[in-house]
Amino acid sequence: MDLQLRGKKALVTGSTAGIGLAAAIGLYQEGASVVVNGRTRDRVDQAVGRIRGTGGDLGGQVSGIAADLSTAEGVAQLVQQLPEVDILVNNLGIFEPKPFEEIPDEDWLRFFETNVLSGVRLTRQYLPAMRRKDWGRVVFISSESGLQIPAEMIHYGMTKTAQIAVARGIAETVAGTGITVNAVLPGPTESEGVDQFVADLARQQGVERSVVEAEFFRTARPSSLLKRFATVEEVANMIVYICSPRASATNGAALRVDGGVVRAIG
Ligand code: NAD
Repeated sequence: MDLQLRGKKALVTGSTAGIGLAAAIGLYQEGASVVVNGRTRDRVDQAVGRIRGTGGDLGGQVSGIAADLSTAEGVAQLVQQLPEVDILVNNLGIFEPKPFEEIPDEDWLRFFETNVLSGVRLTRQYLPAMRRKDWGRVVFISSESGLQIPAEMIHYGMTKTAQIAVARGIAETVAGTGITVNAVLPGPTESEGVDQFVADLARQQGVERSVVEAEFFRTARPSSLLKRFATVEEVANMIVYICSPRASATNGAALRVDGGVVRAIG
């Protein structure tokens, strides 16, 4: 299937690693021109090189902007360099397990600003041009944690639920246009951070990585049907599709790529 992404300009936030990098690679390989983002010039340049190295040959370009999107200033700085996009993937997100009683106000606000407001601010900037063109794609990378709130990081779960609400709400405002706004809900995914976490645990316990993974799915995510971490490419496949003109009838949705962790069928 040709995803018809040639000629589209896409921004993927927080895309120097993990799901964001995989989504940027997927979009580029389908012919989109991709702008990657991270906080440091070095990491952004590395990601740009890595994406180019994947040899997309459908005419897409790759460039990068270093900006800390957890602040209003960082968003303004990025928008100044990139005033319009056709596709916005709000992927940037941080997580940190912490007992509820130990999460201070500053953490609640930092998580909200980084995980929710970054996407809200960018969407507010880019939506008017999408409306003028009567075409656009906005994707919020939420999580299954937005539906099944993890007791070990409630502040993270709160932000992931908020993203689903925001995506649905903005979709309501673009009804009848060629713009779609959706949330994608990955489950446990083998990004660099998760990979390191599992490798560290395996080393500490003196066991194989596969033992740690099996134990995680037995005790922490027993409802998983996949019974392993998803690869970042598996999650990116959904993101790339939902960004494409082919996905025109999917709007305001919360799309799960969670390996079946969420039991609800609705
Ligand atoms: P990751 O930690 O591997 O990558 C995050 C990226 O964001 C990196 O490129 C990092 O440099 C960049 N970044 C961090 N802070 C930034 C900032 N302030 N400004 C700009 N860039 C910044 O992340 P990941 O695991 O691939 O997660 C990506 C998204 O997917 C997040 O929103 C996360 O909540 C969601 N998600 C991840 C999983 C998982 O298991 N990995 C599961 C569900 C949802």
